[in-house]
Amino acid sequence: MANNLYRIYQTTWNCLDWVFPPFCSGCGKAGVRWCDDCEISLGTLPPPVCQRCGLPLRIGEKCPDCAIETFLFTRAASRYSYEGPIKNALHRLKYNNDLGIADVLAMRMSDHLEDLQWRIDLVVPVPLGRERRKERGYNQSAMLAYPLAMKLGLKYSSHILKRIRETGSQVNLTGEERRKNVARAFGANRVAVKGMVVLVVDDIITTGATMQECSRALLDAGASEVYGLSVARTGNRMSAT
Ligand SMILES: [Zn+2]
Ligand SMILES: [Zn+2]
Repeated sequence: MANNLYRIYQTTWNCLDWVFPPFCSGCGKAGVRWCDDCEISLGTLPPPVCQRCGLPLRIGEKCPDCAIETFLFTRAASRYSYEGPIKNALHRLKYNNDLGIADVLAMRMSDHLEDLQWRIDLVVPVPLGRERRKERGYNQSAMLAYPLAMKLGLKYSSHILKRIRETGSQVNLTGEERRKNVARAFGANRVAVKGMVVLVVDDIITTGATMQECSRALLDAGASEVYGLSVARTGNRMSAT
């Protein structure tokens, strides 16, 4: 059922590509939404990364963020390192209504999720505040989370996890400021998440502060476990500030 829905979704995108030939969201090359050169230039986020919080580490280094923070999610991971063409693609997804790239990136995340072998009951996107949602017209994380859930035949909801207060932009904030900015900013529906293993999907994980607060809300509401997955991970460290 879910996979049939996904096939319809994919067919719609393929028809749109035929009517409006796409350009690569990473480098602008004509003909595809995401080209092989961009994919090859990125590869999977290279190890070593922290197996718990997903932070890229130096060889032999013990995770400094896990040393100072008790992360509430079971594990967080990302498909790519936030660099080169993936920066362009995520910028276009967020600010240029480039929704075609969301489908491509959701597929890359779903492959990654299958490799990780996490057992998930429910997929939710990191919610946007009402103001931001109104400005942009859509939530970029939902554009990634929905096709991901459809492809894997997992339950999906964009209403279960909500932002309960507006927060300022996280851009240019230090780790500590980010943490304060999103503290207790989310709430979750108690009935809907009780006993569930929830996957929270975001476009970028920076310090993990947002993922931490989403996890807090879901666990407070009775979820049994929370996992976090994003398209990309920056090298920012919570422990650096
Ligand atoms: Zn490209
Ligand atoms: Zn860690």
